[in-house]
Amino acid sequence: MSQTAEPRQCLDRHKSDHTCQGSVTGQPSRAGTGTIIYRCEAGHAASEAYARKVRERYPDSDTPPGWFDPTVAGERWNDDY
Ligand SMILES: [Zn+2]
Repeated sequence: MSQTAEPRQCLDRHKSDHTCQGSVTGQPSRAGTGTIIYRCEAGHAASEAYARKVRERYPDSDTPPGWFDPTVAGERWNDDY
């Protein structure tokens, strides 16, 4: 058995304000879709911080606010977390 070996690269690697740090690891998407999202350690930390900030500002909303950019978090709005 062999799988197509794609290099695992950080999802955030092209962001201008992101510097990759640590090893790239996969974590299941917060959306619960089973999608594995690969980020470096800094990327995962930033994603966590971002998600936490979103929850604090909009604890229960089905509507993404205007500033919400799914490409920032790499995930969907309105996760049942
Ligand atoms: Zn990175």
